[in-house]
Amino acid sequence: MMPENISLEKPITDLFMVGQAYAKRLAKLDIYTVKDLLYHFPSRYLDFSRVKPISQLAPGEIATITGQIIASQNIYTRRSKNIQKITIRDHSGQIEAVWFNQPFLIQSLKTGRQISLSGKVDVFANRLSLVSPEYELAKPTGMIHTGRLVPVYPETRGVSSKWLRSRIAPLLKLEIKEFLPKIILKKYALAGLGECLRNIHLPRDSKTLAKAQKRLAFEEMFLIQLAGLRRKQVWQQHQVNCRLKPKSAAIKQFISQLPFKLTSAQKRTTTQILADLTAAQPMNRLLQGDVGSGKTIVAAIAIYLVWLNQGKAALMAPTEILAQQHYQTLKELLQPLGMKLKLVTSSTAKTNTDQADLVIGTQALLHRSFETNQVSLVVIDEQHRFGVRQRNQLIKTAGSKSLPHLLTMTATPIPRTVALTLYGDLDLSMIDEMPANRRPVKTWVVAPQKKSAAYQWIKTQINQQHSQAFIVCPLIEESEAETLQNVKAATIEFDRLKPIFRPLKVALLHGRLKAKEKQTIINDFQTGKTQILISTPVIEVGLDIPNATIMMVETAERFGLAQLHQLRGRVGRGDKQSYCLLFTDADNPSTIKRLRSLETCHQGARLAEIDLRLRGPGELHGLKQHGFFKLKLADFTDRVLIGQTREAAALIINRLNQYQGLKLWLKQAKMANIIN
Ligand code: ADP
Ligand code: MG
Repeated sequence: MMPENISLEKPITDLFMVGQAYAKRLAKLDIYTVKDLLYHFPSRYLDFSRVKPISQLAPGEIATITGQIIASQNIYTRRSKNIQKITIRDHSGQIEAVWFNQPFLIQSLKTGRQISLSGKVDVFANRLSLVSPEYELAKPTGMIHTGRLVPVYPETRGVSSKWLRSRIAPLLKLEIKEFLPKIILKKYALAGLGECLRNIHLPRDSKTLAKAQKRLAFEEMFLIQLAGLRRKQVWQQHQVNCRLKPKSAAIKQFISQLPFKLTSAQKRTTTQILADLTAAQPMNRLLQGDVGSGKTIVAAIAIYLVWLNQGKAALMAPTEILAQQHYQTLKELLQPLGMKLKLVTSSTAKTNTDQADLVIGTQALLHRSFETNQVSLVVIDEQHRFGVRQRNQLIKTAGSKSLPHLLTMTATPIPRTVALTLYGDLDLSMIDEMPANRRPVKTWVVAPQKKSAAYQWIKTQINQQHSQAFIVCPLIEESEAETLQNVKAATIEFDRLKPIFRPLKVALLHGRLKAKEKQTIINDFQTGKTQILISTPVIEVGLDIPNATIMMVETAERFGLAQLHQLRGRVGRGDKQSYCLLFTDADNPSTIKRLRSLETCHQGARLAEIDLRLRGPGELHGLKQHGFFKLKLADFTDRVLIGQTREAAALIINRLNQYQGLKLWLKQAKMANIIN
């Protein structure tokens, strides 16, 4: 039986008839606690709400009947098949129901019992019958499997919807305490929690269902928003390590001696960052800008200001290759001014960084080589994981003490509304403009029959322009880490293309190579020893090879638009006209149309919006693997919901202590925790 007062946080094994075996299966559905079970929402509903007298059933319709079982038997046929057949009678007539190969059924479907059956009315053995219907013996507690909107759940082996229904239904009788503040329920016309949970599992009708979905979606997005604002609060409760002075004249001088003029977007974001850096609270800012939009120089100006204040800075890159590249770029820029730079690689990890003004390395390496309270500014480049882990790490090591300023940079184009939600704790700066000297990369979608002509065209281009090309291989499996499948596909592609491009030199790059091998391959490409670099889809996001003018992508339809845009950003970095060829075997007009939007649109954030609209949030590049979009009900394309929940979170964040129930839910909220 269900204890009346079971806590939602109790493990599911505390429930009646849920043992270790089921616990193990339920874990596959991410269900561990009573609350998880309650929040395991139906993926759809069977409409069995049409209850009809037997005499009025028509073939083909989906209906529910109730009546008494007047005959019940197992029928064994030849070929060891067996049929379960019962006859049901109501006031209007009688009908048969049949199932196949479930002999145990007959034990419970005994003559004389009242039963309710839902399913399709069909013709079996020349008679109107119900074939394999859902059935439910009459119970005083009411029907959950028949005669209504019946929930169908995401299932797993050994856990059927029927089982889930029978375990969830009794929970819905519990008193479930509301945790959303009254003012929010009222302001957004939301129904109470208990009512909504009941109605999402066992809705009376589509109207009550919609009401339940509305509130539960609101709650889900609201908790994410609140978690973001809460993180922001925690961050802002810290002081900065060392208060920086603006040094405006020296900064101006530095900017004026750059080899180019800053774009107005670079100027604007630089101003925002410099203002943050001279404040008493630590900065926590995200700098978003397409590949090639010039984020590095903006970071360099911030780093320079720190140095002018006798402070130290650290720059974290996602890979050693990118760390190396940043080291080269920044050394050229900053060393002549007197700054000491230090590159930390796997082979130099133990070297002393005390003397360095700027330390550059991967995140893993840098965490080992200095204390966060020794640096005034941490720059994290090209991170996809929202940097939440890194930010938490910083807060943890800092304890209640001071924090460094934090600048996170990303080229992953995320629609602004989504960014504001997921990065709720960050201030956003967008570089939405490319340097003026940049020509848009000419982009074509290439059909299969034009493939060999395209190879020849690439060959000619490389020869005539003395340029180079990237070839990105079919995307077999999307994953942040390199999968074996992708490596294999790239290797096959490499073997296939090598003879086609002969005598041009072709190299293969993938993530399973040793760091040294990778470096050699990239060096060879950088110095022009090889002309074509074939690589897997996940390779080296920030690679800067100005002489490369061609980006060719195989099976382009498997990529998101924003992701293709990022790949395209590998070229078009020098003065030569660059090209992007998107190979596709798809003949679906809408797929072709989607790819074609790259021919005309050259803005990452806009392409991300299109992705969001056409493919749904799950396909947003770079976010897919992180579970961030595994929202149960809420939807990142729902701008109204995003707006309202953000407003609601802002409304109560400063008096969160008045809402202990909400605070607890926030702490337990899974989605919020992933982002926490
Ligand atoms: P990303 O935003 O992808 O990190 P980078 O910072 O690597 O871009 O900049 C790409 C290239 O553009 C670099 O070679 C850089 O020197 C150059 N660049 C940056 N800003 C400008 C500008 N305002 N005008 C011209 N070139 C620029
Ligand atoms: Mg960069």
